[in-house]
Amino acid sequence: MKVPYIMTPGPTEVCENVRITRSLQFTNPDLDLQFYEFYRETCERIGRFLKTNNEVRILNGEGILGLEAACASLTEKGDRVLVIDNGIFGEGFADFVRMYGGEVVFFKGDRERDIDIEELKRFLDKDSNFRYATIVHCDTPSGVLNNVSQICPMLKEKGILTVVDSVAAMGGEELRVDDWRIDIALGASQKCISAPPGLTILSISEDAFKSMKNRSTPIASFYCNLLIWEKYYENKWFPYTQPISDIMALRVAIDNILSDKKILERHKNIAEATRRSIKESGLELYLKEGYCNNVTVVKIPDGIDDKKLRDYMLEQYNLLIAGSFGYLGGKVIRIGHMGENARVDKVSYTLAALQKSLDHFGFMCKCNIASCFLKEF
Ligand SMILES: *Cc1c(COP(=O)(O)O)cnc(C)c1O
Repeated sequence: MKVPYIMTPGPTEVCENVRITRSLQFTNPDLDLQFYEFYRETCERIGRFLKTNNEVRILNGEGILGLEAACASLTEKGDRVLVIDNGIFGEGFADFVRMYGGEVVFFKGDRERDIDIEELKRFLDKDSNFRYATIVHCDTPSGVLNNVSQICPMLKEKGILTVVDSVAAMGGEELRVDDWRIDIALGASQKCISAPPGLTILSISEDAFKSMKNRSTPIASFYCNLLIWEKYYENKWFPYTQPISDIMALRVAIDNILSDKKILERHKNIAEATRRSIKESGLELYLKEGYCNNVTVVKIPDGIDDKKLRDYMLEQYNLLIAGSFGYLGGKVIRIGHMGENARVDKVSYTLAALQKSLDHFGFMCKCNIASCFLKEF
């Protein structure tokens, strides 16, 4: 397989120390008690990364498992659940809520900007009778970043539990689970964390545990039941065999992040230079406001075919960027600059390849995008 540069909004490139660790010899994670210590320490480090003292768990499936597990564990038949929606992942939460019998109430925001806090506040003053609310931190198909730092405390004031999908944000954007009073914060290995796809991480507050324990009906799932993990350490028992190699690799990726004191600044500088150079080139950003620093979403100029453009970039420059899907399918391209891909060399090459490819299909940029990007560095 010829591996291209993957400048997509996940999966991202994985550091060598993470890849090597994944190939090391491992022990039996059920029977060797050392692994319980290793797992607990890894969860503590993830807690440090998420700025929380809440319980942390690693689930054995790609990010979507975390979304479903949160909804499965918190929803009972007839529960009213507030789904805050200004993007495809935001709206998608509704499917999981309904799957477990919940009644969805949407708060719909403008899809071209982040959630309007005042509008949400007015909505909640009229109706706040919800068991929990879901919100996406960075809704990746459009690249919008929602102000979770204000939204979650506001929901908690009203007695509503908060579930935050930060899969695409954590690691590149600030996330302070305890300060922001997030009950369940979830992320995945393959975005800014820069580990291979396959794991979900999530933090669970005491209030969330209480709500799960006070259910009048059992959680209708095994893999998605967040309670089966509760006493794993005390009982030295996991509900199923842990993917130990993946977890060993994840721990190195988390350590990489914890030792990189300027990681958020790096994402911010890269993202700002990307957006500025895109605008100067005559291309247009999709969003009006609320840009996430992990992905840049660019409108495709009229007359250019999204798929042909991306195929050309792959063939000519061995570079993979993403299109989008749902209502954005065919309309935008997405450049991921998250985690290990938020690097000046990689992004400038991506922009140069984009310019050459647009040129091939007849769109002339107004400046040299890569040089414009590099001005700041
Ligand atoms: C990537 C991502 C997920 C995980 O889903 P996949 O598309 O299956 O990788 C969940 N939520 C958000 C916001 C994501 O960006």
